Amino acid sequence: MARFSVGREEDDNDEGPSNPTRRPEPKRRRTTAGTFSCSGNFRLSGDRRLPVRESEVARENRAISGEDPDQNLEGSRGNGSISVMLSDPDVLDCPICLEHLSVPVFQCENGHIACASCCTKIANKCPSCCWPIGYNRCRALEKVLESVKVSCVNKMYGCKEILSYSKKTDHENACIYVPCFCPSHGCDFLGTSTNVYAHFRDKHASSAEHIFFNAVHPIHIEKDQSYKILQMRTEGILFIINHASDRVGSAFNIICVGPARQKRRFSYKLVVTDGESSFKLESVAESMPNWSESSPLKKFLVVPRDVVNSSAPLKLNVFIEEKEYVCNGCRC
Ligand SMILES: [Zn+2]
Ligand SMILES: [Zn+2]
Ligand SMILES: [Zn+2]
Ligand SMILES: [Zn+2]
Ligand SMILES: [Zn+2]
Repeated sequence: MARFSVGREEDDNDEGPSNPTRRPEPKRRRTTAGTFSCSGNFRLSGDRRLPVRESEVARENRAISGEDPDQNLEGSRGNGSISVMLSDPDVLDCPICLEHLSVPVFQCENGHIACASCCTKIANKCPSCCWPIGYNRCRALEKVLESVKVSCVNKMYGCKEILSYSKKTDHENACIYVPCFCPSHGCDFLGTSTNVYAHFRDKHASSAEHIFFNAVHPIHIEKDQSYKILQMRTEGILFIINHASDRVGSAFNIICVGPARQKRRFSYKLVVTDGESSFKLESVAESMPNWSESSPLKKFLVVPRDVVNSSAPLKLNVFIEEKEYVCNGCRC
């Protein structure tokens, strides 16, 4: 079984004397979250192009051992693909914008590379050596990029997507298998939203209000209570009423525990009334995989302080319904 390591060259002194203004290159690291998640098993697909004799030897060995060595490779489909470990996944990122590279990739006379949009941004002048860049493709790297297949970072949570490297970030930002935290105070359970709903029902059912979709539920919140967890009786979906107060009054909204870009969307109505005046918010519950008590409130209802003070605990009428999903052209 072939094991390849692709590493970054630490010194590139082979640029020759033709280099006019060579500057030392700082080693850049991507700093956004999720960066280092991409190390792992990459797969290069395509023809292995073994010399005939070697193929025969390999076949003989297979016959002797009675097994196909490809079957031992993780995720191998027996189509000639090999697993590759990239010790530095940054080599597949544009060194200028640090985004994952996609075809076309350009190189200067000295072999420095840049993505197409960076070539425009830097006015076709290589930032490392000042030679022109954006006219010569780096087809060898393009072939590697087209051939690299990588699994989603949420593979361990059940995502089976096998992606080309350039699509990895887009997919992972929208992946429905993104792990969610259990919202119960002090619990560190992490799993897909479905797992968290089941876990919560199992372990913390008594700490939530159990409600239904499409029904008005009176929910009581104490002045010093910063949130209240709601769980749907039917599917176990978790919602949280957030509560923050300051000198003006109290702010409330509702979020849903789930992947940030899940397809299902839930709208809600929050109404507080003191008999004379009523305060109402109609909104869509933001979906959050990592809600915590200190998550900042967005799009909230403000109930003035005098209304809050006139009743304790405060009664909120909560109504949640599922919005009809409208596909906007993706392949769902
Ligand atoms: Zn770039
Ligand atoms: Zn250059
Ligand atoms: Zn995924
Ligand atoms: Zn828990
Ligand atoms: Zn769609």
